[in-house]
Amino acid sequence: MCPTSRVEKLFDEALMALRKMRYNLAFDLFTEVMELEPEIPEVHYNRGLAAGHLLKWEEAAQNFSMALRMTSDTDSFLQRAIARLHLRDWDGALRDLDAVLAQERENELGNYHRRDLVLFLERTGRKPEDVPFHCWGWFDPRLKDFVGVDPEIVPKAERAELRAYLIEALKDAAPAGCDHSFRFTEEWALENRRDPRGVSRFLFERGMRCDCQVVAEPERAPSSPAG
Ligand SMILES: [Zn+2]
Repeated sequence: MCPTSRVEKLFDEALMALRKMRYNLAFDLFTEVMELEPEIPEVHYNRGLAAGHLLKWEEAAQNFSMALRMTSDTDSFLQRAIARLHLRDWDGALRDLDAVLAQERENELGNYHRRDLVLFLERTGRKPEDVPFHCWGWFDPRLKDFVGVDPEIVPKAERAELRAYLIEALKDAAPAGCDHSFRFTEEWALENRRDPRGVSRFLFERGMRCDCQVVAEPERAPSSPAG
């Protein structure tokens, strides 16, 4: 096999693993591709995504920096900003968010995090342990158990239990209700000693975007993927 097609094949396998949420496998495959062809920015970018899903934020940030050395694309700046927020590198994150918005003024996620970060940085009497509002849950010490762990499947039967939990939690949160994040789903996961980011990722991949959408799952169209 000629070296190009071997690289292409490996890269395709790596992307497939990433889509299937097999992040450890994806990370290893991207590493192989990177060793064969070190100058492809997409390889570094996707390797960074896999690292981030595994909560390896240092590694993720390094990968996005590698990608940015070759091409200054918006997604790499955005993903490095998110990695830097996880690393509490507020100034670095702000620089990256500015770079995102310089290229794409209307970038939704970019604006969302930048507004939040600026409010946070302007706040007087900030304590070292404080974090921007939209980074809630990112620094829970219990997350340490899930570094390098692939997301878990949350089978349908368990989702019934999760839904019951969410209905109660959203009732208690009234009148505000769902803030359209996975806040309570991730709380449920942590209380059940499961990987919160992995659980929310799993549900996200099945078309549920927040707590109230998890509650609404049984009413959804039967066209949604099974599992
Ligand atoms: Zn919602």
